[in-house]
Amino acid sequence: MSRFDGAIVVISGAASGIGLALTKGFVAKGAMVAALDVDEKALSRLADEIGPQVFPMQVDVADEQSVEQAIQNIVGRCGGIDVLINNAGIAPTGRLGETTTETWRRIMSIDLDGVFYLTRAALPALMKSGGNIVMTASISGTSADYAYSAYNAAKGALVNLTRSLAIDYAPMGVRCNAVAPGPVRTPLIEANFRSHPGLEEAFIRTVPLGRLAEPEDVVAAFMFLASQEASFINGAILPVDGGVAAWNGQPD
Ligand code: NAD
Repeated sequence: MSRFDGAIVVISGAASGIGLALTKGFVAKGAMVAALDVDEKALSRLADEIGPQVFPMQVDVADEQSVEQAIQNIVGRCGGIDVLINNAGIAPTGRLGETTTETWRRIMSIDLDGVFYLTRAALPALMKSGGNIVMTASISGTSADYAYSAYNAAKGALVNLTRSLAIDYAPMGVRCNAVAPGPVRTPLIEANFRSHPGLEEAFIRTVPLGRLAEPEDVVAAFMFLASQEASFINGAILPVDGGVAAWNGQPD
């Protein structure tokens, strides 16, 4: 039997990169995925490709009311929620002095407020099902990337929010963990590579395994944390980074 047969899994930012790989991974293991994304065209491609096991929903996670409406629709249509994956995120670059207030607010509104809205809305259903939450954090949340001030701050907050949820909702039977990927080849990072020549090579030099991750490289960690096999793992931040976080930066 598949590990997630019949499970209702909500994934934000499901139409591209890591979220797309997660959607395919969970569907392949029998789950029904409510795929939330702001990109309508990408969602319709996803629905065409995957078929009836995916429930595409155009939602801006930074819009509190849309998020609450989406969760009500999912619970109404599917009967509950077993797993919430807070994955939607953006990562514009910039040192603090070059960061406009608008950029700062945009990053916080998607990478942090969006997680707050979605998690708060889904918690009643998760408490009912004894479900769990997995965050897409980043190694930028456990140490800092050069010239990603606002993103580092948002992911740092997300890491401690993971721990906070883990302790507050454990008595109600809801676990919360995070995966902290290193650099993953997705449209998000490729946009930054195009605007910053040399950045791709610089990132690769920080990875002891000598390459960027592909989105599929990080899926198993999410599935493990979301599964019954991880039933006593709560508040963990699991790096999936080819060894980046293990390296202290000293040259070889
Ligand atoms: P991506 O750009 O390929 O995918 C992100 C998806 O989120 C897109 O489909 C986008 O439309 C959606 N999205 C953006 N804003 C949204 C909003 N307001 N509401 C709903 N959906 C929205 O990027 P990715 O690399 O797959 O990133 C996914 C997550 O992984 C992000 O949280 C990112 O910070 C994190 N992450 C990425 C890397 C990396 O190197 N790519 C590393 C560590 C962590």
